Amino acid sequence: MNKDDSERMAGLLCHAGHEPSVSPDTADLIIFNTCCVRQNADDRAFGQIAALKQRKAERPDLLIAVGGCLAQLEGQGIGDRFAHVDIVFGTENLSHLPLMIETLRATGQRQVELVKESGDFASDLPGKRLHEWHSWLPIAVGCDNFCSYCIVPFVRGREKSRPAETLIEAARELVESGVEEITLLGQNVNSYGRDLYGKPRFAPLLAALSDIDGLKRIRFTTSHPKDLTDELIETVAAHDNICPHFHLPLQAGSDRILRLMRRKYDSAGYLELIDKIRSRVDGVAISTDLMVGFPGDTEEDFKKTLDAVEAARFDQAFMFVYSPRSGTKAADLDDPVPPSVKSEWFSALLETQNRISLSNNIDLVGSCSDVFVESLSKKDRFRLAARTPSNKLVHIDGPDKLIGQTLKIEFSQAYSWFLLGRVVTTS
Ligand code: SAH
Ligand code: SF4
Repeated sequence: MNKDDSERMAGLLCHAGHEPSVSPDTADLIIFNTCCVRQNADDRAFGQIAALKQRKAERPDLLIAVGGCLAQLEGQGIGDRFAHVDIVFGTENLSHLPLMIETLRATGQRQVELVKESGDFASDLPGKRLHEWHSWLPIAVGCDNFCSYCIVPFVRGREKSRPAETLIEAARELVESGVEEITLLGQNVNSYGRDLYGKPRFAPLLAALSDIDGLKRIRFTTSHPKDLTDELIETVAAHDNICPHFHLPLQAGSDRILRLMRRKYDSAGYLELIDKIRSRVDGVAISTDLMVGFPGDTEEDFKKTLDAVEAARFDQAFMFVYSPRSGTKAADLDDPVPPSVKSEWFSALLETQNRISLSNNIDLVGSCSDVFVESLSKKDRFRLAARTPSNKLVHIDGPDKLIGQTLKIEFSQAYSWFLLGRVVTTS
């Protein structure tokens, strides 16, 4: 969501006559688009904002803006803490950014705008895409689930879906402008449309989008296990341009902890759900989010997470140590487990999941897949980074003119987080 918001900010500013700078060192305006889901995201943003104090003292004409979830949460506090910040804007106030810059320049006064329920859909604003071939498409913003650990509903507001016709029209326009791949975004894509149509309508939306001529790949994230329907599984199975990948956060393996988290499913139900997905969708990959050290987690609860991870055999997992967010229900619970134990649990979980990811990837070696070449590899600038429809990252050798093409590759070597591939044919 933040990446899409960043592309909107860039689009708006380019529209208003600004130009992207190649480096923060030469920029006249630096914008921090922040996240506050976990404490380390806060800390990194605050650290980087603080680090600009000296530069601002040397170059008073440099403008510094802070937006995103942390700005929404901390509001005026950011200005109080950092005198060198010129603009603070909330998650629903992106559209005023150019005006805030102009007003600041005209008056020299710090600009702060944190209006909630502003009616702005950032996604309706012009965007400047990072890649010609890809666009994010937020289908809903906000969240109504109020999982007990999560700050998102407080900083992004209640769930608001965009009308299906608007989304289909927007996707058509994107395809006409050269986009081949669209990633649909929502905190819980499965509940898309509940606020507009009285019941969720994600599967029909997906089916309608898949009919758009020239739209080669549709991805979507995040799916909540409690709302994932058979209709959605069948829709993914039935359409070649809907990528066979579900990001389905499990969070924890212990039913007691899942209840405390207010996730509304249990681990047996979750495992049945992924069995069903695997039996219906060819070549599907399943990724997840996992958290250790939720308040009251015991060694026994943690073992249940490890057991669930062994049973689920996820292709990929994003793993976190629980981080208390003030204002959430979980922040008031007793949390007696020391950080050193949580960090041991985290290492054990990481090791388990890395072994499973590696073993799943080893099973692919020798088989072939279509991949889309996205960019130079970040890790090795002499290789290309490509992605399978199931969202696996594949590094291949080849000239950079292959970027933007679909190739057939054979998997030649497996690692936990990516595979190496050999080009078989270009199309
Ligand atoms: N809407 C998505 C995820 C949003 S946040 C969903 O429901 O799955 C992304 C991930 O961050 C979550 O899945 C969770 O694993 C993690 N997360 C959220 N709040 C957290 C917290 N307070 N501490 C640690 N991890 C957290
Ligand atoms: Fe947060 Fe739960 Fe909503 Fe995801 S579904 S954004 S974890 S409250």
